[in-house]
Amino acid sequence: MTVLRLPPFDLIAPRTVAEAADALAHHGPSARLIAGGTDVLPNLKRGLAAPDVLVSLAGVESLRGIRPAADPRPSANGLRGPTRPPSTGAPEGITIGAATRLNRLMADPAVCQSFPVIREAVSQIATPTLRRMGTVGGNLCLDTRCTYYNRPALWREGAGDCMKHEGDVCRVAPGGERCWATLSADLPPVLVALDAVVRLTSARGDRVLALGDLYRDDGLTHLTLAPDEILAEVWVPVWGSRAAFLKLRPRCAVDFASLGVAVAVDVADGICRRARIVLGAVASHPLRVPAAEAALCDRAPDATAIRAAADAAYDAARPMDNADQPPAYRRQMVRVMVARALRAALGQPPSTR
Ligand SMILES: Cc1cc2nc3c(=O)[nH]c(=O)nc-3n(C[C@H](O)[C@H](O)[C@H](O)COP(=O)(O)OP(=O)(O)OC[C@H]3O[C@@H](n4cnc5c(N)ncnc54)[C@H](O)[C@@H]3O)c2cc1C
Ligand code: SF4
Repeated sequence: MTVLRLPPFDLIAPRTVAEAADALAHHGPSARLIAGGTDVLPNLKRGLAAPDVLVSLAGVESLRGIRPAADPRPSANGLRGPTRPPSTGAPEGITIGAATRLNRLMADPAVCQSFPVIREAVSQIATPTLRRMGTVGGNLCLDTRCTYYNRPALWREGAGDCMKHEGDVCRVAPGGERCWATLSADLPPVLVALDAVVRLTSARGDRVLALGDLYRDDGLTHLTLAPDEILAEVWVPVWGSRAAFLKLRPRCAVDFASLGVAVAVDVADGICRRARIVLGAVASHPLRVPAAEAALCDRAPDATAIRAAADAAYDAARPMDNADQPPAYRRQMVRVMVARALRAALGQPPSTR
């Protein structure tokens, strides 16, 4: 049996966010953040990265916890949605610290009550042991994945490296000029569907942006996070949305998604006022499908509207052959799972067709 060993590195263990930000600023690109380490450490063992320094967030107490909070955006009033209740000055959402462990998140009473979809998604991440280590920030900043990339060095030596690691071709789309590795983490599509907002911090100051803007569709650099920035917290608004998350994978535990579907819908007087349909694990970013959302909005979310939304999502999804299940199957399942997720969110019975 081959034992995969960690490469040597220095570990910095700050106690405050400011100390962590200073460490990143000081060490530059040779430093890497580590939170729970459930993705960083396997990647180091596989020789996919070799940072000189790991800056651990494990001891930064202020990055942990879940609390009621108001919208952190300075121009929040202009960004409110059509069915959102007028502000009473009270907190209208929850803030989740980036270093909050996944098991804490899914057990939190406020999350269970106001965001059962978050609980559902987290319960499908990895295993109970990994959820005790893994964090929200690590999940949102998880590296993109590909069957040619997430392999031990020995395997990659045989197959040949690719442009995501020391090579110059893509093994999935050899004629292409980009990397198609997928964002397979489960929380990003769910939190994008819930219109979450993130606060990033660095020694240069803070930035607040929509979670969707944290990502770009590029398997090599899928995060717009600067190397010296730390994801500090994520704010999730309470919209009163009905939401659902479904995950496709070979086994019902441990495996990453080969497709994730997150939906959120607001229905008032029988009319769908707002819809979010977001696909995971079919692109390098959480893939929002505006055409599918438009097919539902300003009308009754009946079987015809749901079918039109599912068809639009199918049209938008172009999975590549780089996950555990074949791309044609995953694409067909986009149609099936978007319809199922919408029916679940709307409280409609599963289709018999
Ligand atoms: C066997 C196995 C199965 C898994 N299955 C799933 C699954 O089904 N679904 C799923 O979503 N994940 C899965 N994972 C991945 C992982 O366990 C989770 O995504 C976890 O939430 C990652 O969090 P972490 O704190 O361990 O991240 P880490 O490994 O510590 O970090 C991950 C990345 O995020 C960066 N990072 C961490 N925190 C921050 C921050 N605050 N600001 C900026 N960057 C940060 C790190 O630098 C690193 O690049 C699996 C992992 C394993 C080993
Ligand atoms: S999509 Fe291509 S470049 Fe990206 S990791 Fe896979 S094989 Fe490598």
